[in-house]
Amino acid sequence: MSDTILKVSGLKVAYGGIKAVKGIDLEVGKGELVTLIGANGAGKTTTLKAITGTLPACSVEGVISYMGTPLTGVHSFQMVEKKLAMVPEGRGVFTRMTIHENLLMGAYTRNDKAGIDADIEKWFSVFPRLKERAAAMAGTLSGGEQQMLAMARALMSHPNLLLLDEPSMGLSPIMVEKIFEVIRDVSKQGITILLVEQNAKLALEAAHRGYVMDSGAIIMTGNASDMLHDPRVQAAYLGE
Ligand code: ATP
Repeated sequence: MSDTILKVSGLKVAYGGIKAVKGIDLEVGKGELVTLIGANGAGKTTTLKAITGTLPACSVEGVISYMGTPLTGVHSFQMVEKKLAMVPEGRGVFTRMTIHENLLMGAYTRNDKAGIDADIEKWFSVFPRLKERAAAMAGTLSGGEQQMLAMARALMSHPNLLLLDEPSMGLSPIMVEKIFEVIRDVSKQGITILLVEQNAKLALEAAHRGYVMDSGAIIMTGNASDMLHDPRVQAAYLGE
């Protein structure tokens, strides 16, 4: 694939004796929205954590390259400087900072004040609820509002690659719809996305390509719309 943003080759991760990821390969091309789906415990979050270098002491093998260079040895705090942004499961907003301050933190590698202010206004227009609560502590937001804030904060860094871990987790159906609308919009703007989701239907409907992970291995990959119509995917992941 030309213009590969992320390439994972032979990734293995073990937590002590537990082999969570068993030698997977995956690729995300420039401008693609790729989803990694699979049941609870399949190894999806571990894969994202290996990419961002946020795993606790455990063994990681294989090669992860981002925009042509290996990510090995790059600390998680350096990821934003490399324009790689992650919205973790559980959102990870700064609960004791205001919503406005959280958005500013997302832009800490930038120094174009006018551009930063314009981006904050843009995200406030996408998520009016965040504007209403701009001066409130992020910890007072609902789960769905925190998810919105976490996504907006990640996008404030103008990432080349956005990693999303279970953005629909624990949200009301209306909130899930809103979050996926934003994911599709962000993708249409050309931002490359790797989306980990348990909601396989929504994820495959939004994505260009998909990977199915099961017990630490990739068991299927393909075009997302083909996968949506694949009887094996329908039976195992779409409840059909
Ligand atoms: P979920 O949707 O529940 O997050 P997942 O597909 O993201 O599932 P992982 O969280 O990556 O799966 O977990 C993969 C395997 O690794 C599971 O068997 C899990 O119990 C195990 N595991 C995850 N984190 C740890 C850890 N810190 N220590 C030991 N085992 C772990």
